[in-house]
Amino acid sequence: MTTLSPAPTTASPDRAPSRVLLETQRADCARQRELALAETATSMPDPVTVNRAASLLRTIGEIDAALERIAAGTYGTCVHCGSAVPAERLEFRPFAAACVSCQQTR
Ligand SMILES: [Zn+2]
Repeated sequence: MTTLSPAPTTASPDRAPSRVLLETQRADCARQRELALAETATSMPDPVTVNRAASLLRTIGEIDAALERIAAGTYGTCVHCGSAVPAERLEFRPFAAACVSCQQTR
């Protein structure tokens, strides 16, 4: 029997951003995506706007995944290699799922 499992509430307290920050970013992306979708709801959709809507949807998915990682206590750890994602990277992109080297090779 081991008692090494950390309490979920104390898992990386200084690395995880507040859920509010991510939820605000998510709401922001969702709003921008709706605007983009409304713009593309024409007979001649602008390909740039179509791409933007698609990339916003991708970002929303990444934010959802980050929120799940916070809940699971694995936030700030690369999803591919398990090493720590640098703090400055998380600051720039709070929902980053992979460390720089993994991101570059995929
Ligand atoms: Zn990695």
